[in-house]
Amino acid sequence: MSLIVQKFGGSSVGSAELIKNVARRIAEYRKNGDQIVVVVSAMKGVTDNLIKLARDVVGTPAEREMDMLLSTGEQTTIALTAMALHALGWEAVSLTGSQAGIFTDGVHTKAKIRDISPKKIHHYLDQDKVVIVAGFQGQSEDGQITTLGRGGSDLTAIALAAALNADLCQIYTDVDGVYTADPRIVPNATKLSEISYDEMLELASLGAKVMQSRSVEFAKKFNVVFEVRSSLTQTTGTLIKKESSNMENVVIRGVSLDKNQAKITLVNVPDQPGVAARIFQTLSDAAINVDMIVQNISHDSSPPATDLSFTIDQPDLPKALNLIEAHREKMGFRDIISNEEIGKLSIVGVGMRSHSGVAARMFQILAEQEINIDMISTSEIKISVVINLEKSEEAMKAVHRAFLEESTPIS
Ligand code: ADP
Ligand code: ASP
Ligand code: MG
Repeated sequence: MSLIVQKFGGSSVGSAELIKNVARRIAEYRKNGDQIVVVVSAMKGVTDNLIKLARDVVGTPAEREMDMLLSTGEQTTIALTAMALHALGWEAVSLTGSQAGIFTDGVHTKAKIRDISPKKIHHYLDQDKVVIVAGFQGQSEDGQITTLGRGGSDLTAIALAAALNADLCQIYTDVDGVYTADPRIVPNATKLSEISYDEMLELASLGAKVMQSRSVEFAKKFNVVFEVRSSLTQTTGTLIKKESSNMENVVIRGVSLDKNQAKITLVNVPDQPGVAARIFQTLSDAAINVDMIVQNISHDSSPPATDLSFTIDQPDLPKALNLIEAHREKMGFRDIISNEEIGKLSIVGVGMRSHSGVAARMFQILAEQEINIDMISTSEIKISVVINLEKSEEAMKAVHRAFLEESTPIS
């Protein structure tokens, strides 16, 4: 007998019909006598609608109440999924995150899982029930409902698979695996049979929303092997696991595009020790994540000054601008410019460690498309560039074509 964790995302539970489909899929496994723990997301669009509703009531809603509101999305689907299983003649019980024993810190809307105490889950599994857990939510130490950040049901599933020491963890979604690029943007993208944690983590953090990046980080830490697959077909999906020795043979595993970034430029910042520290500390204190940073010394200014550009997540832009404006005197810059019309295009692959010339080739491809590169950042296994938003999808296709469709080797 195996213990299987199955997660169904919003698009897989988007209607009554789809929920019945999910119940049938769970039943197929249950028939083999396996123990099944199911994690479900809110129905497609529900979380977005709840966020919009809150914003229509008040511009900046209290974060505790936001969690109270957003957690209802998943609470709806756990109950409906349990009912659908009952209708098929299977015993099933739904549990909220808190009932399932998922404990988090108290940071509302982006809480981190601290501990899982799966006593209740085991109790129901022992009674031969399918246990259906609400994704994306938990409980803080003082009993408040918390949520785990957008896409957080992935994290619930991976964390439960680790805590329960599951034999199998399956992430069901509306594509049949992880592709070399988002198949909705790049029709020629192909499905990967496997990908390493590090590559998946980079792709996810750089815009491939097929998996929440924190969930991949968690899987890597606890060595949870999982499969991303379709809830509508029977095809095998993509295995996400520890890097194996043959993975470096492939130079580029995938391409991703993040259109949800914004760039801030501070013009004429005094070129003195401590200035950058003051700016980025202020943002960090407000939990605003800064990604790429570029500083340019301007040679003709006196006293010496620099232009400082950096990227952040677009939703944080108003908050960041207000903060910087409020600290204008302390930071000493002359002007502040922001730009939301940017896209961050990245190529990812563990094979980059052992192959040179990858960056040069990427820049060449962009040059051929007459696409200007605004910012560049690299790590051992990825290269990212900031480019104009309008041209970003075209650039993504060109880069994908050159690295993943044409087989000219890079040496
Ligand atoms: P769910 O509702 O199941 O959580 P998501 O919408 O969060 O599903 O993630 C699935 C979507 O991720 C796909 O529909 C696809 O458009 C997108 N996606 C982005 N990049 C990739 C990729 N590299 N491979 C597969 N899907 C991707
Ligand atoms: N419902 C949440 C969201 O839309 C969590 C999830 O779907 O994973 O972000
Ligand atoms: Mg998702």
